[in-house]
Amino acid sequence: MNLRSRATTLLIWLFLAALAAVSVWSVLPPSPRGADAPADEFSAERAFADVERVGTEVHPHGTAANDAVREYLVDRLTGLGLEPEVVDGVGMSGRLGDQSRVAATQNVVATVPGADPTAPVFLVAHYDSAEVSYGGNDDGAGVATILETVRALGEGPALRNDVVVVLTDAEEACLCGAEAFVDADPRAADGGVVVNFEARGSAGPAVMFETSDGNAALVDAYASVPYPVGSSLAVEVYRILPNDTDFSPFLDDPAGRFTGLNAAYIDGSATYHSPLDVPERMSLASLQHHGSNALALVRTLGDADAAALAAPSATDATYFPLPGGILARYPGWLVWPLALAALGAVAALAVLVVRRRGGGHDDGGTRTAGPARLVLGFLAGVLPLAGAVLGAMGLWALMVTVRPGYDEMLDPWQPWGFRVALLGIVALVVTGWFVGLRRWLGAPALVVGALGWLAVLGVALAALAPGGSYLAALPALAGAAAGIVALRLESGRWRALAVALGAAVGVVLLAPITVLFFPALGLETGAAPAVVAVLLGLALVPALALSVPERGRSGGWLVGACALVAAGALGVGFAVDSFDAEHPEPSRLAYALDADTGEAVWVSTESTPSDWTARYVDAREDRSAQFPPMGSGAWFGAAEAADLPAPTVAVVDDVTSGDERTVTLRVRPGEGEIGTAGALRYIELNSAAQPDAVLAASVAGREVPVDDDGILDTRFYAPDGDGFEVTLTVRGGEGLDLRVVAAGGGLEGLPGFTERPDGVGVGGSHSSELVLVATTVVL
Ligand SMILES: [Zn+2]
Repeated sequence: MNLRSRATTLLIWLFLAALAAVSVWSVLPPSPRGADAPADEFSAERAFADVERVGTEVHPHGTAANDAVREYLVDRLTGLGLEPEVVDGVGMSGRLGDQSRVAATQNVVATVPGADPTAPVFLVAHYDSAEVSYGGNDDGAGVATILETVRALGEGPALRNDVVVVLTDAEEACLCGAEAFVDADPRAADGGVVVNFEARGSAGPAVMFETSDGNAALVDAYASVPYPVGSSLAVEVYRILPNDTDFSPFLDDPAGRFTGLNAAYIDGSATYHSPLDVPERMSLASLQHHGSNALALVRTLGDADAAALAAPSATDATYFPLPGGILARYPGWLVWPLALAALGAVAALAVLVVRRRGGGHDDGGTRTAGPARLVLGFLAGVLPLAGAVLGAMGLWALMVTVRPGYDEMLDPWQPWGFRVALLGIVALVVTGWFVGLRRWLGAPALVVGALGWLAVLGVALAALAPGGSYLAALPALAGAAAGIVALRLESGRWRALAVALGAAVGVVLLAPITVLFFPALGLETGAAPAVVAVLLGLALVPALALSVPERGRSGGWLVGACALVAAGALGVGFAVDSFDAEHPEPSRLAYALDADTGEAVWVSTESTPSDWTARYVDAREDRSAQFPPMGSGAWFGAAEAADLPAPTVAVVDDVTSGDERTVTLRVRPGEGEIGTAGALRYIELNSAAQPDAVLAASVAGREVPVDDDGILDTRFYAPDGDGFEVTLTVRGGEGLDLRVVAAGGGLEGLPGFTERPDGVGVGGSHSSELVLVATTVVL
């Protein structure tokens, strides 16, 4: 390799690296604006004042602290010139398999009247927190985003449409506030466009990650925001995940009255649902990102024909961020033509590579290959894909071996060292594959193999997850087109330019998605970002082929450098991230008392008990019949029985007609407190002991599902002393065994419990710090 081609190589990689940096930078949150920002703009500093108030106390649904947050929100909305209403309702969620969850809810709803309304725009966030969480981010961020947005809207002329603020209750319990709104609120009756704001962590870009079906028109509206960060891939991924937010009840509306968008920031997930989700841990940049986008989006939707937007578009759009605050998008009908074009382009490149050999262009195998080699090159292309997945799994296994506490987290507290290590591993896999196989198969076969896999994945995704097809198909198309051009060029410099431009498409599309994908499933599922990163690696293979000479040592040096980056970043990851008082190791512990037998147990849902938890639990058991809320795979250990009140069930009415018996029950908490949380979390009723007995059921007036085995599994959240009414239809002439479990929160004061030491914290979950009291009732 002469000096000039070395300089060209260096330029190519500098260009691609700069492009990657710009592409990634463009999806990062903007700088937070101060309280002195112009009044018609969104200021994170102004909004943060609301975050601090919402996140002052742990405030799950049903607690006095949640009541205080609600009162604060009513005052704030009144202060903004609106007439907020606290709407009493009963919400029911049947989304959790066949379990049903019911709660009495108090949503705070207020309307900003439009000048000439077409249909309402609903701004939704939940004001309750998870059980042990302050809810500073989740969902203080969403609530504060809406309040500051509404304030800024008031500085301009009225929008065309009504903007309806819906601050929901009991999201963490059961999405019940949103469901109650959809089910019964008159303002929801005619449907409209929903925008939901969430936070599943404390940092990172505010990503628009979920849409209603037929999203093309709404994605067009979203493109008007100043910092659009969203990818149609995320929509596809989220559709297959079991996660839910308040957006779900709107999408599940049987009448299909709603369309909408869902945005959240999701990095910094170590605080999620834990007592460390406090306002001070919020990234103000993330709040600014949420807010700047929210305000622009509401202005767009507020002046649009919202009635038209409230009906699904004919197709989903493919969309992705480009540098410069651009959201590129094209209609769904283009997905297949582009995927097939990519496949065709790679095939054409392959034919050209083979033909050149026949045409006397054989230049020692650097630009030609026979058909057999091409086939081998394609088959070999699966190796980096598999290697990246195995590498990501190996990385997580190593991390958990060194720090077992990571097993209870999606991501460590400071994940960036490990993320760079994962990128290093992927780079090592791709360069190792290329350098290792090149001498056997030649560069052209590997280039065609790499681009071939991208093209095939583009087609596979077009069939399975069309919104993600662009990530593979477009880099394949660009790479193959560039390759075809490059093969016809004699000048090395022009050839390099063509290859660099082809690879640039892959960099612009894949680099930001790799970074955005890291927090989505966490390093626990690092295989997901590793796959996106390896697609980028495959798109860069033509540039590798151009810059790594066949002879000489530079290939080995490159592979060594990647290994060094991976190892160095791993070391930095472990050094930077460790468990301490500020960043505790998560632990999960609960307590359960069988009021019928007097047996008490400690329970943990950790996958392997940590040192602290192992003081309490020692055996994995299936006690789902005794304590249904703990499922079948928890860890248990003997505990001293505490004097805790069991729930009571009184028969209010019992009528048998024909072969059906209808029993009306009043379920009440027992006399006295369970746990220190100040309110019961829920009372659960489970009929698993007697399948097929229950034919139908309703709780607090809402009909609830009974599963295919005729088992009722239902919960009523935060009952007051008066309890709630349940009506069961059972087979006539039969009794009924019901397991009834009251759940409180807070382990302090239970016999044998000692406070966690510094460095051990409460892991975010809905099952930690639970105190259960279970009893069987025979009707
Ligand atoms: Zn939330």
